[in-house]
Amino acid sequence: MADPLGTAAELRAALDAGAVSAVDLVDAAHARADAVEPQIKALLHPRWEAARAEAAESDDRRAAAGSASNLDGIPIVLKDNIVQRDEPATCASRILEGYRSPFSATVVDRLREAGAIIVARTNMDEFAMGSSTENSAFGATRNPWDLERVPGGSSGGSAAAVAAGIVPLALGSDTGGSIRQPASFSGVVGMKPTYGRVSRFGLVAFASSLDQIGPFARTAEDAAWLVDAISGHDPHDSTSLPEPALATTAALTTPGGGHADVAGLTIGIPRASGDQAGLSPGVEERVREAVAVLEAAGAKTCEVSLPHTRYGVAAYYLVCTAEASSNLARFDGVRYGRRVEGPEGGITAMYEYTRAAGFGDEVKRRILLGTYALSAGYYDAYYRKAQQVRTLLRRDFEQAFEACDIIAMPTVPETAFRVGEKSDDPLAMYLADIFTVSANLVGAPGISLPCGFDQDLPVGLQLVGPPLEDARVLRVAHAFQQLTRHHEPRPSL
Ligand code: GLN
Repeated sequence: MADPLGTAAELRAALDAGAVSAVDLVDAAHARADAVEPQIKALLHPRWEAARAEAAESDDRRAAAGSASNLDGIPIVLKDNIVQRDEPATCASRILEGYRSPFSATVVDRLREAGAIIVARTNMDEFAMGSSTENSAFGATRNPWDLERVPGGSSGGSAAAVAAGIVPLALGSDTGGSIRQPASFSGVVGMKPTYGRVSRFGLVAFASSLDQIGPFARTAEDAAWLVDAISGHDPHDSTSLPEPALATTAALTTPGGGHADVAGLTIGIPRASGDQAGLSPGVEERVREAVAVLEAAGAKTCEVSLPHTRYGVAAYYLVCTAEASSNLARFDGVRYGRRVEGPEGGITAMYEYTRAAGFGDEVKRRILLGTYALSAGYYDAYYRKAQQVRTLLRRDFEQAFEACDIIAMPTVPETAFRVGEKSDDPLAMYLADIFTVSANLVGAPGISLPCGFDQDLPVGLQLVGPPLEDARVLRVAHAFQQLTRHHEPRPSL
């Protein structure tokens, strides 16, 4: 029998061969969750019974007609900011405790059409604000490779669930790195598609011009399966691109049926700016080795200059806080979740008490910063400037992609830090987003994939492609995984 904790591709083969059933896979995920959850706390609101019933339907479908869908019967988890009809969606916030969604996100509808079995929701930083999953109102998630360390964030629960082998696949959201950074810290693959590729309908908005849903998996091939299933135009999202669903899986192989290779590809290496926010030597070394592997396989490299990336973190934290202050205004105790009346009575007091009790410190900090940045007299100095930086950054990337096909760099300057290590220093936490925020600010696709270890902690290699070249990013990632075994080790939980 196949390893019930295998990749989606292995599980599909086992399902097709009749070696396992979809119900077996839910049971295996449940057993694994029972074994590891007390230590890692990745999941919120598991739905094992419902998942089992849906898996039984998948098994019936397959018995009757075979299955054409890669994801039919494969268990998956969703970040708690992606809504599913009749299920809770707390965004790891007290303010949404008790809320149940009356509708499903487009990605959820597409997953269900593909037959994927949603088994649980995952822990996150409150409203996706953070890099460690410590900002959850329901307790921190731990890194499966070292329980004293964070799994990254904000999609830390999704990353940890895949890393710990509960499920082969998960969805997260990436506004400034929240898929790629936890993928790096947790030793799994995580991808942010091109902005607009995947519908945001039913994703609770943090910063609407940056947010993008994307996959976690252990291989680029599995990530391609997932991205193909959830992408494509959606009339419910006005920023959704008028493009059909991606067919990246096909791009992983050559017409002759072999694996795609990197011969003739030019990889851009950003020129060190002297402003690398504490790039650790171990991370730098692993990324250099990864690029050398691609070179040995026939890729060329060239240096590219991205001079405005040094303003990326500052611009990102203005844009995301400004948009968050506006998006989170809807949580007022009237329409969603919790209400706190307060002793005075009256609607203004109710808003104030609800928001004071419902939001955590980081969310309040961002609403305050964003409201300030948008206020009359400051708008030009902050928000408009940040948008101008975005334009300059876009030009940097356009120019770089005239010289190269794809850019390689670290995902994060460091490996997973200890729980509590940065809790009192939000600025240090923000600065570590230096390598991830640019892709969001320019809308480009980016992936993080395991490229080895530094002092027993996973290191992530980031590949960023030009907007719309999601297939290229996955193809290079897949080629790298054919050349190396960095995606194979599992934490000894
Ligand atoms: N760490 C970044 C932040 O705190 C990224 C968050 C995200 O991508 N959702 O905003």
